[in-house]
Amino acid sequence: MENEVKSLNFIEEIVEEDLRTGKHDGRVLTRFPPEPNGYLHIGHAKSICLNFGLAKKYNGKTNLRFDDTNPVTEDTEYVESIKKDIQWLGFQWNQELYTSDYFQQLYDFALELIRKGLAYVDDSTAEEIAAAKGTPTEPGVPTPYRDRTVEENITLFEEMRAGKYKEGEKVLRAKIDLANPNMHLRDPLLYRIKFADHHRTGNTWPIYPMYDFAHGQSDAIEKITHSLCTLEFIPHRPLYDWCIDKLEIYPSKQYEFARLNLNYTVMSKRKLLQLVNEKHVEGWDDPRMPTISGLRRRGYTPASIVDFCERIGIAKRENIIDVSLLEFCIREDLNKTAWRRMAVLDPVKMIITNYPDGQIEELEGENNPEVEGGEGSRKIPFSKELWIEREDFMENAPKKFFRLGPGLSVRLKHAYIVECHDFVKDENGHITEIHCNYIPNSKSGEDTSGLKVKGTIHWVSVPHAQEAEVRLYDRLFNVENPAAEEDFKSTINADSLKIIPKAYLEPDMANAQLGRGYQFIRLGYYTLDTRSTKDQLVFNRTVTLKDSWAKEVKKG
Ligand code: ATP
Ligand code: MG
Repeated sequence: MENEVKSLNFIEEIVEEDLRTGKHDGRVLTRFPPEPNGYLHIGHAKSICLNFGLAKKYNGKTNLRFDDTNPVTEDTEYVESIKKDIQWLGFQWNQELYTSDYFQQLYDFALELIRKGLAYVDDSTAEEIAAAKGTPTEPGVPTPYRDRTVEENITLFEEMRAGKYKEGEKVLRAKIDLANPNMHLRDPLLYRIKFADHHRTGNTWPIYPMYDFAHGQSDAIEKITHSLCTLEFIPHRPLYDWCIDKLEIYPSKQYEFARLNLNYTVMSKRKLLQLVNEKHVEGWDDPRMPTISGLRRRGYTPASIVDFCERIGIAKRENIIDVSLLEFCIREDLNKTAWRRMAVLDPVKMIITNYPDGQIEELEGENNPEVEGGEGSRKIPFSKELWIEREDFMENAPKKFFRLGPGLSVRLKHAYIVECHDFVKDENGHITEIHCNYIPNSKSGEDTSGLKVKGTIHWVSVPHAQEAEVRLYDRLFNVENPAAEEDFKSTINADSLKIIPKAYLEPDMANAQLGRGYQFIRLGYYTLDTRSTKDQLVFNRTVTLKDSWAKEVKKG
């Protein structure tokens, strides 16, 4: 499908039309504007792929702008994590900018609106303002402060800026239209008083601009051409245009697309922060979190996330994406890129009774049989005692069980055919040993035995086994839409993490690299955990080999 012609999404259509008509001098400059009040999640990845992808496609650029107008919730830890995540996804911004760098300019813009008679200082309380705003069907009424003179407003606003008033005592409002059917145009708040330590400007500013005043003006300052945001900002657009129009600044344009909604998770940063603070998860990068850092730690690759964002596309209507599509994308990628290894998670010992005591053979296995040359190979020691998976043996095997049981034969991956002739049970009826004979001339690659067996199982040599903790993850929530529940935390899946304290891996896994995907053959895809140490290896299961939730995922 290399030559498949992709149709344009509605935003690409707008950009191409703008390029045709010479709007914005043929430039494309987008921005990604995270608020540094949390870690990025998969929803942000959609916005990143859209903004950076558009710029890339049309020879433009993308600014990274930290929308830091809420000093109380923002922090440099978040700034650093956001930068790391964007780069990890494979994107590079044009300029790194901060709304807080525009505080003086935004303040001057506010003074200009006041001078034009388009803004006023209101002494009403938040409740009084809300009450006087009316309802969508009833017009609002002016507060007693709406008709202050320009001079009075300038003085009061300058005093607000000088720190003369307490929080909540005064606000600056735009003077637009108290009867407008769009509530956002009923004299919206432009500035509020806040005495808080800002992560960049410290206590320089006792007043902070509201989102609606800061965002469009920051876009205009940077001469952003296409300012892309999610659908809930549609009713804000008239205000966005009003400010730019009245201030006669660069005519950036806002366009809205549907946000990503994913089932079996939550994506509001407030909720994610609760999960972290209340220790329902290990942190923002817990592998069950929908955060970029969580997905990375879980073993997701940048390519799989970008692929996911391409598949879901850009639409004008909200929908909910099934998380199995995300899992499908990582499987697709890891199937091509993961290195194959053997690991036994639920071990039982196999003894090859006719194999010489103390003999060791060094077998060889390609790292990645999916590519030419296999990306090199590693040595796999073979010996008389092996760990195999407990479920690969059955005492009373049914007819179609092509693994081990008394009298049954299988091939050991990369090695020999073995036939089971005995087993040992303890007093509780628990199987402790499986005894087999191997067929010396059946070795993989040089098999002259003429024997045919239907099953192949994985194994790890007992004296060479590398011990490791292995963590198996499942969905963090039991319901499709936890955010719709009264208490979303009551729907947390109690079995979302299973720890296998001691699994046996082939010895080469001692050299596992952080960030590389490994397929533990027949089991799933795994990756080294960031908390892993040389003395205590820890692996995370990224995803199972097949979709155990068995929902149909349509390709493409
Ligand atoms: P929250 O409301 O949870 O704090 P937010 O949307 O306010 O999240 P921001 O940091 O302001 O978070 O978002 C930065 C950019 O990412 C915005 O342009 C926003 O539209 C976009 N974005 C956030 N969530 C999603 C999502 N689920 N799907 C697509 N884009 C998103
Ligand atoms: Mg926001």
